Amino acid sequence: MQSAVTVNGRTYRWMKRPLVVVCVDGSQDEYIAAAVEAGVAPFLCRLRHGAGTYLMADCVMPSFTNPNNLSIVTGVPPAQHGICGNYFFDSEKGEEVMMNDPRHLRVGTILAAFADAGAKVAVVTAKDKLRKLLGHQLRGICFSAEKADQVTSAENGIDNALGLVDMPLPSVYSAELSEFVFVAGVRLLETVRPDLMYLSTTDYIQHKAAPGTATANAFYSMMDRHLAKLDQLGATIVLTADHGMNAKHNAGGEPNVVYLQDRLDAWLGAGRARVILPITDPYVVHHGALGSFALVYLTDRSGERDLRDRVAALAGIGAVLTRAEAADRFELPEDRIGDLAVVAQADTVIGTSRARHDLSGLDAPLRSHGGSSEQKVPLLANRPAIAALPPRRWRNFDAFELGLNLVA
Ligand SMILES: [Zn+2]
Repeated sequence: MQSAVTVNGRTYRWMKRPLVVVCVDGSQDEYIAAAVEAGVAPFLCRLRHGAGTYLMADCVMPSFTNPNNLSIVTGVPPAQHGICGNYFFDSEKGEEVMMNDPRHLRVGTILAAFADAGAKVAVVTAKDKLRKLLGHQLRGICFSAEKADQVTSAENGIDNALGLVDMPLPSVYSAELSEFVFVAGVRLLETVRPDLMYLSTTDYIQHKAAPGTATANAFYSMMDRHLAKLDQLGATIVLTADHGMNAKHNAGGEPNVVYLQDRLDAWLGAGRARVILPITDPYVVHHGALGSFALVYLTDRSGERDLRDRVAALAGIGAVLTRAEAADRFELPEDRIGDLAVVAQADTVIGTSRARHDLSGLDAPLRSHGGSSEQKVPLLANRPAIAALPPRRWRNFDAFELGLNLVA
């Protein structure tokens, strides 16, 4: 057994007790604060009031699910691991490429490195889209709630996930999809007792319900119960979020959308600019593929600076960066982003063309993420720090460092 493991330039101490890192999708800190305030999250209440470590951290940009989950499990920003959204545009081939496949991942994970060093490792995700990336080269257990009925020992390191969890297979659009992840975590700790576990939920509830609503509080109450069980079972728990979540609609409940492809086509003529929305994935019912971040690829870059200023002047747009600026400021891989990166203001989302967004599935006023306004996330542990933590810009991808090196 080793005393430490070094991955991607960072060194992590061997765990003294099981470490469970939980990524709660879309968990803006206000959700926890409201649930604590309502008295439905007693465990989180204790952590918030001094029994543990409670920090605020910045997630990576764009504030989307995959880039952040991959940063958390690699300990580095997208410039190093390469996953900067669900899609990038391959300019040479002229096609949009999905980044769900591990071949797009440029570094190894902390999870795989600890497994190689002899640790028992388990990963449970809500949606299957993350499973292959998180489980890349991992010798251990790795399965999704979404496809828990299809696990095999060969592929997932476990052969009866439904039996383990003792819940029916949840719908991909449900709170139960995340509950399944927590129950699986508790059951694994009770049975296999992994040394290292990574649990990643889905933000279906956060897309639909604002902090403090009955729906949101019920979700955080459920989560609180399971976290308390993990704590009772002796684990160190570190909890963070992949990104925050904000309302993106007007007082009438209509989404505030800048249809950027329509604007660019009107200004430049069709076919001169291509808008890519890295939030787009196969599961868009709850957000209509609308987030607060977009990339623009230009056929002719000579007018790039003028266009940047013109887009920046649009109502609802917060910042427009060139490729080099975006790579530098947001730590993004230059070869997988557009000529321009567009960030919307907190209450606004960016679409391509109006006709390409099906908003019929939005049965609640739009809440979404992707921008700088969703960068602040909680980073907390169920144990106090060993020594006073130095002031620094905490990142959600410091989660493993916090759990393994910094708390008692
Ligand atoms: Zn997410």
